[in-house]
Amino acid sequence: MYAAPLRSLVDELGRLPGIGPKSAQRIAFHLLRVSSEDALRLADAIVTMKERVGSCTVCFNVAEGELCEFCADPRRDTAVLCVVEDPRDIVAVEKTQEFRGRYHVLQGSLNPIEGVGPDQLRVSELLARLEGGSVCEVILCTNPNLEGEATAMYLARAIKPMGLKVTRIASGLPVGGDLEYADELTLGRALEGRRELDA
Ligand SMILES: [Zn+2]
Repeated sequence: MYAAPLRSLVDELGRLPGIGPKSAQRIAFHLLRVSSEDALRLADAIVTMKERVGSCTVCFNVAEGELCEFCADPRRDTAVLCVVEDPRDIVAVEKTQEFRGRYHVLQGSLNPIEGVGPDQLRVSELLARLEGGSVCEVILCTNPNLEGEATAMYLARAIKPMGLKVTRIASGLPVGGDLEYADELTLGRALEGRRELDA
């Protein structure tokens, strides 16, 4: 129906999360209408992001270069480590202004049905970091849903024998929800009210 290049753009846009065929079509036609300069700025932003942004070699947060801003910041407390599922959760925790430690990003949560086990997550890297010795408390800040709770329990069992304090963010967060969507006040309280886990 459309010229091939336009059709291929509609197809690509339609593969993006949350974008259905109608929206893909609307965005493609919008880009067709705007100036080349405006459209190419978007293309350039994608290329630049793909070239420059990768994973932090220590915590697996997104990073431009080898270390993310938190691992590179000497003012962050190395004694407290907050374990999250996704880099977007770091943004949520930072907004609470309740946490001054460092992070570790698992890059997902345990989900046996989808074939996600500990080996598919950054678990061995986390344990290796803890062996390093400077961490005293690990805050398990995984999502308050089934997979997040299972992941927290698994990690607590793996970490406790190392003699470290292991805490879990308090309940009060909407169950089944995503940290990413929690408001900063609720998440801040959940962090403050974290309780120690015994495994
Ligand atoms: Zn990092």
